[in-house]
Amino acid sequence: MNTVDDILARLRKAIGTQDRVALHEPAFGQRESELVQDCLSSGWVSSVGKYVDQLEEDLARFTGAKHAVAVVNGTAALHVALLLAGVQAGDEVLCPALSFVATANAIHYCHAHPHFVDVSPRTWGMCADRLREHWSNMAVRRNGQWENRVTGRRIGAVLPMHTFGVPVELDPLVAFCKELQLPLIEDAAESLGSFYRKKHTGNFGRLAAISFNGNKIITAGGGGAILTNDSQLAKRAKHITTTAKVPHPWEFHHDEFAFNYRMPNLNAALAVAQMERLHEFIQAKRELQRRYVECFTECTVAEIYCEPEECESNYWLIALRLNGDATLRDEILQAANATGIATRPIWTLLCDLPMYANCPQGDLTISRELERCVISVPSSPKLALNAQVRVAA
Ligand SMILES: *Cc1c(COP(=O)(O)O)cnc(C)c1O
Repeated sequence: MNTVDDILARLRKAIGTQDRVALHEPAFGQRESELVQDCLSSGWVSSVGKYVDQLEEDLARFTGAKHAVAVVNGTAALHVALLLAGVQAGDEVLCPALSFVATANAIHYCHAHPHFVDVSPRTWGMCADRLREHWSNMAVRRNGQWENRVTGRRIGAVLPMHTFGVPVELDPLVAFCKELQLPLIEDAAESLGSFYRKKHTGNFGRLAAISFNGNKIITAGGGGAILTNDSQLAKRAKHITTTAKVPHPWEFHHDEFAFNYRMPNLNAALAVAQMERLHEFIQAKRELQRRYVECFTECTVAEIYCEPEECESNYWLIALRLNGDATLRDEILQAANATGIATRPIWTLLCDLPMYANCPQGDLTISRELERCVISVPSSPKLALNAQVRVAA
């Protein structure tokens, strides 16, 4: 069997069906219909209603964060998190070159500039060692703040992202930020249900953002949330995502520039129902990942990514790493998608997108390597059931 056919056969075995399969499909049941229907029947579909409060409580309980503030999407959550961390117009924010475009877009919304750094081959997220090395060549202390010695711009924050749900090396990154007194913001959009040394992601910096987009581990249709352990910041987050309206029975008074970023009750109702199944989804995805690993043992050209030992990943997207170049990657993508197995390459590096091409960057060797050889494979929780049926048969 040739290489491509061999990989396709292993993928088919892992997903346990000959049908077409999506990359990541949401799963809805009776409870989702019930809660959404409750919004429709009661008329509370929009900016006021009990499900927004409920979701915020559920999220805080699940993640262990003191506060969660629900917003319209993950990008908006990131935008507000950066602003509240003190990122100012003209700043640079250190972030991975290997990420979804929203990471850089949120920085741009603050009129700041992404400054791209490399990722770790272990976690595929921001690498603390490589960051330190880059920092020692790049940063300079001037007038009581850190600046990029080349651009002269202030470094405003550090923004790691937990790639496909796998936590970055948080201990060394937290230590780095503490030492230099830089705010740490986590792009935890993909990592609801992922833990680093038993602590939930999104709890390690000043603020974090999560996403409930349709393709994430749970969905609100569209939505996001800001997590923080700082009560003052949580209050500020609520205020500036709800037009900075000063509470009053009838008057419209707003006391600062702000956003209409609040999550509608209709979306929150869906998310509340999905939260009840988060644990089940995580278990299913971890089970599915083990099936993939089994099916790729003794494969010499590809391996399924496995979490580092100090982490527990939600395996939001399960990834295949090829020991080959971009040609092999493209052949597999072509063949798999043609036979109905949805597969995708990892993102184009953000520094190669036209609008971010002139942003500062460090050495990106690992990011470039991963860009050429990583494919995401079907990761819907329901596929774990196929695997179970197959094992039983
Ligand atoms: C999904 C995602 C976001 C943004 O979330 P939206 O809810 O789609 O705005 C941000 N960062 C990363 C890494 C993501 O995967």
